[in-house]
Parts: sequence; C-alpha cells; structure tokens
Amino acid sequence: MNWPTNVTIKEVGPRDGLQNEQTFLSVEDKISWINQLSRTGLQSIEITSFVNPKWIPALADSLEVAKGIERLPGITYTALVPNRHGLERAFKGSVDEVAVFMSASETHNQKNINKSIQETFPVLREVVQEALSAGKSVRGYVSTVFGCPYEGQVSVENVICVAEHLFEMGIQELSLGDTIGVANPKQVQAVLNILLKRFPVEKLALHFHDTHGTALANILASLDMGITTFDSSTGGLGGCPYAPGASGNVATEDVLYMLNNMEIQTGVNLEKLLSAGHFIQEKIGRTLTSRNLQACNINHTSPHK
Ligand SMILES: [Zn+2]
Repeated sequence: MNWPTNVTIKEVGPRDGLQNEQTFLSVEDKISWINQLSRTGLQSIEITSFVNPKWIPALADSLEVAKGIERLPGITYTALVPNRHGLERAFKGSVDEVAVFMSASETHNQKNINKSIQETFPVLREVVQEALSAGKSVRGYVSTVFGCPYEGQVSVENVICVAEHLFEMGIQELSLGDTIGVANPKQVQAVLNILLKRFPVEKLALHFHDTHGTALANILASLDMGITTFDSSTGGLGGCPYAPGASGNVATEDVLYMLNNMEIQTGVNLEKLLSAGHFIQEKIGRTLTSRNLQACNINHTSPHK
C-alpha cells in the first residue's frame, strides 16, 4: 500500500452540514462552533454560503457569521459563492477563499443552479476572475461526479469537461463531490484513474457523503490513488435533500480516527474535534451519525467540556 504520510481535512460542516439540517442555529451558536473548530488544528473551514437566502434559509446570516468569527493564523476560511452578487457579500465578509460550484450532470445543474452547464460557465468565470484579482484563492466543487439523483450514472467525460473549464478559469483546487453518497471504492478508483491522467493529484480533493455507508471505504480507495485532500463535516452533519433521513457528509471524527490510526498526519486533534462535535450535536438536537461521537458518548457519561 502506498498511502500518503499527510492529509488535509477541509471541514465543510458549517456550510454543507448546516444547509441540510432542519434546525436553524443562531448566529452566536454558529460563531461559537466555528471558533471551536478553529482550535482543533484544522487548516481549512468552510464557514457559510453566500447563496440567495431564499434558497438556503439556514444560512441567511452568512455575512454576520463571516464578520463575527475569530480568524486564527494559518486557517483558510472559505465560503460558497454562486455569482457576482454573492461574491460581493463574500468580500464584505472578508473570506480568504471563495468556492464556486456546479454539477457534472445537466439535470442536477439545472435544478440546483437554474442554468444549463454551458450557461453556468460564464457566470463562474466572472466570479473566479474577480476573486483571483482580489487576491482570494478559489476552489471549485463539481457535484454528482459518481451519480445523479435525476440521471443516475454520470459519464466521466462530463466531469472532465467541467473540470477543464474550471481549471482553465483559474481555480486552484477541484473538489469531486459524491453529492448523493452512492459511490463505491471500485468506481472511485476507476474515475480517478481517468482524471489523474489529465489533472495533477495535488489539485484534486474528494468530497464523500455517507448515505450508503461507503464513504470511509471510498476515502481509503482515494488514498491508494494518492489523493491527500478530503472534505468532511463534524458529526456527519447534514443530510441528503434527495433522501430524507439519510446521512450527510462523512464525519470528520471518523475520518480522523481512521487516518490517525493509520499514522497519516492531519494536524487535527481528535479530542478537540469531538468536543466541538458534542457542542453542535446538542444545538442541532438530534443524535448525529458520526460513529466516533457516539462511541465517545458511551465512554463518557457527561459530554466533553
Ligand atoms: Zn456535500
């Protein structure tokens, strides 16, 4: 096995997690949680989304959150941005990094962004160029890489097309999203085998949801292929809008537990992360899907402070 010695974990819970939760958190609780995450050793935290609040009411307070959090040196604070209007708000919120997004499947892109894939490119190009000229780093997300809730299978050619457009615009990293959590390790390696012939391994990140319980296996399969950046949510927060009640992102605690015990360095402290996990679980008011959060509850009658 040829596993990397270091892995970067990008915490997306405050955005990808919270946007799919039924419970809306107060600005104070979001800020407090993000501040706790900042003290775990994480190098990257996606704090919110500057998408129109009409579409994502749970994150309507994005600007207040962005302005209210403590900024610790060495951490990249990212926000999701759909268009120029969102970018202006992200600038006001002084984020370090802007994340743009689109889908590899036409129907999901249409339903999620209200535009065809071809119509989305010029909108994102403008955002990417303005963000880069303002000195921000830019990350791209491509959704539905391993399956689409409307179209089923997604061709790798579609992923390549979207990836080439986004890299050509100037994004520095592309996160490949298993939006509905349907990927399996064999498929992950097959897709990566093709993508890695075209794109450098250090520019690709993997973003797995755990809908069917395959996320950690998919991460292991990606590690085998040399991938060293993964997105995850504390607690496994969130869910799948297409499968009510399903698991959300792979849980950061579970990724950490696996990597730590494989002696792969992440720089993130599991105990501190669990503590932030207990905080957010209590605020959300339901038992989250992170295995390590629940395993830790069994061993501790009172939650971590
Ligand atoms: Zn996601």
